[in-house]
Amino acid sequence: MSYFDEKEPPKREDRLQACIAHHGTICGLANRKNCKCMNDGDRLFTQGSICQLLPALAMMDSFADSAILLHGAVGCGSCAHAQNAVTKAGNAARGRPAKDTLWLSTALDETDVISGGEVKLGAAIREIDSRYRPGDLFVVVTCAPALTGDDVDGVIRNIQPQVSARLHAVYCQGFKTKIWATAYDSVYHPLGRDLLGLDPEEDEPVFTGDELADIKDEYRRKHAVNVMTVSSMGRVDELELQRILSSFNLTANFFPLFARPEEMYRVTQAAVSISTCPTHDDYLLDHLKEKYGIPCIISTMPIGIENTGQWIRDLATFFGLEAQAERFIEQETAELKSALKQFEPAFSGKRAFVSAGEIRSFVTAGLLIELGFEIAGIRSFHHDEYADAEYRKLAAKTDQDYVVNIANAQPFEEANLLRKLKPDIFLGHWNGNSTAAKLGVPASVIYNTGLNFIGYKGVFEIARRLYKQLTNTAYNRKLSVHVRLPYAESWYGEDAFKYLRQAGGEASA
Ligand code: SF4
Repeated sequence: MSYFDEKEPPKREDRLQACIAHHGTICGLANRKNCKCMNDGDRLFTQGSICQLLPALAMMDSFADSAILLHGAVGCGSCAHAQNAVTKAGNAARGRPAKDTLWLSTALDETDVISGGEVKLGAAIREIDSRYRPGDLFVVVTCAPALTGDDVDGVIRNIQPQVSARLHAVYCQGFKTKIWATAYDSVYHPLGRDLLGLDPEEDEPVFTGDELADIKDEYRRKHAVNVMTVSSMGRVDELELQRILSSFNLTANFFPLFARPEEMYRVTQAAVSISTCPTHDDYLLDHLKEKYGIPCIISTMPIGIENTGQWIRDLATFFGLEAQAERFIEQETAELKSALKQFEPAFSGKRAFVSAGEIRSFVTAGLLIELGFEIAGIRSFHHDEYADAEYRKLAAKTDQDYVVNIANAQPFEEANLLRKLKPDIFLGHWNGNSTAAKLGVPASVIYNTGLNFIGYKGVFEIARRLYKQLTNTAYNRKLSVHVRLPYAESWYGEDAFKYLRQAGGEASA
C-alpha cells in the first residue's frame, strides 16, 4: 500500500518523525543516539509559524498553463502576492512570457462555514474553466473546508466531465502540521496520483519502424537525469547544475518547478533522479522508484565545496564515471580555491550565524567554514533523519562546538540568541534577516532566486557577496541605533530556550 493510494499525504510528524523544538550543540546532535525532540507540545510559548500553504504555493505558482483555486478564506492567498514577482521573473529567465500567477479564491465567509462551501466551489471551478481555460486547475483545500468537512474530491469527481481543465485536489490545510516541509508532499501527492501517468507515448504503436529515432530515444533516456528543483533555486542555479551534468554528457530534466503539467510524465523516463535537497523530495522520489522503477539519489544539497563534490560523486557513481568525476572535482576545486584566496583575510576568524530550512542551514554553515568563518550558531526550521549526515559532517569539519536550535521560526528565541552570540554576519531568510539587521548584525540572504548559491559558482558568488557586505557594516550599526525589536530588555537577560520543552517534559528554565 502506497501513500499515494490515500486521499491525502501524511504529515511529516508521522511519516518522518520530524520535529520543531530542540536546542543543543552540533557535537551533541552528531553524537546522539536518539532524537530528543518532542513532536507536539514542545514550547510553552510560541509565536506565529509558517503555514505549509506558503511553500506549496511557491511550487504550484510556477506550473505552466495552470490555475490555482484556494478553497477557503480569502486571506489564505495573501502570500501569493509576494510570490508573484518570483514566478514572473522565473518565467522570464526561462524564455517564457513573464505572466502573473493565476490564483483565485472561493473566499468562504461565516455563512459558508455554517452551511458548507461545496456549491461555491463548484461554481468557482466552472467559472475559472470557462473564463481562463487553464490546462490544469489545482483546487487547494485549506483549513476552513477541512474543518467543516467539504467533500472536495466528490465535487471534483462530479464536475470533471463538464470542464476542460484537469482538476486536482491539493490537501494543504495549515492546521494539519507544524512541519512546513509537509507542503512538498501535499503538492507531490496529486502530481503522483494524477499527472505522472499521463504518458501520451503509451498510446503510440510500440514499433515505429524508425530505428534511428528509437536508438536516439533510448540514448536520451539513458542519459537523462531528473534534477529535483526547490523553490529556493533560481534559473542561475539550474544553469550551474546543467553545466556540471553536461561535462559528464548527461542532460538535466529539472522538475517540478516551472514544469508543464502535460509534460510531467517525462520524469518517469529518466535514468535516475537526484535530489538537490533531501528535505524536499523523498516523498516523490520513493514513489518514482516504487511505481516506475526510476532509481534515486538522496544525499545532500550541492552547496559548498565538499557537498558539491559529494553530489557529483554520487551521480557519477551511478553512471560508472567515478574517475572522470574525480578529475572534474579536482580541477574545479583548484580553480575555485585560487579565486577565493583574495577573500581569506577578510573572512578569517569572523563568526557567522545561519538560519534556514533543515538541510540548507547546515550545508551553508559547512560552506562558511570552508571560506574561513567560525560558526556562532545555527537555527534549522525542523529536524528529521535527513539532517543526521549533515550534523556529522559539520562536527568533523572543525574542533569547535556551537549552538544548534531547531525552531519553526520563533523570532523571539532568535533575537535572544543573536544578542548574546553577537555574530559578525547573519545568513537567513527575510524574516530572520530583519531581526538580525535591527540588532546591528549585517544580514545576507540565504536564498534569492536571482543569485547563485549552488555548485562551485555558488561558492564564489556567496563569498563575493559576503566580502562586499563585511567591507562596510555601517548600515546595520546605524539601523540598530534607530530601530528596536518588540521585546522587553529583560527578555535578553533570560535563557533563550526558557519556553522550550525537551524530552522528559521539563522546560529549560
Ligand atoms: S493556517 Fe489555514 S487558514 Fe491560515 S493561511 Fe494556512 S491554510 Fe489558510
